[in-house]
Amino acid sequence: MAKGALKWILYIAAAGLIGLGILFIMAQYADSMRLIEGIIFIVVAMVIIFFARERKPIEIKKTVRITSPIKVKEIDCPNCSAMLNPDKLQVIDGKPYMTCDYCGNKFEMTEEPTW
Ligand SMILES: [Zn+2]
Repeated sequence: MAKGALKWILYIAAAGLIGLGILFIMAQYADSMRLIEGIIFIVVAMVIIFFARERKPIEIKKTVRITSPIKVKEIDCPNCSAMLNPDKLQVIDGKPYMTCDYCGNKFEMTEEPTW
């Protein structure tokens, strides 16, 4: 399984970073900056282990909410004024888009109050 292999690569990388971090911390007598670098290495290794252990893939859920009903029946293409097919309604980045069957024009629909 490729995913398992990747996990082990991450673990090995993390182990290497921890080793480097320890070396850097031990070498701190030469340069005090080494201590900080060593700590950074270990912190990065911890982060790698944390993500490698995470079993679930990161889920990004996005709910698209259209605040008011759209009157699709009364929509004409602004380009060729043909009646538009409500089935062509698409939601892109949370905005409703219509595609004209006749001229291929794609435009953002504005939400209008129903009254
Ligand atoms: Zn059109």
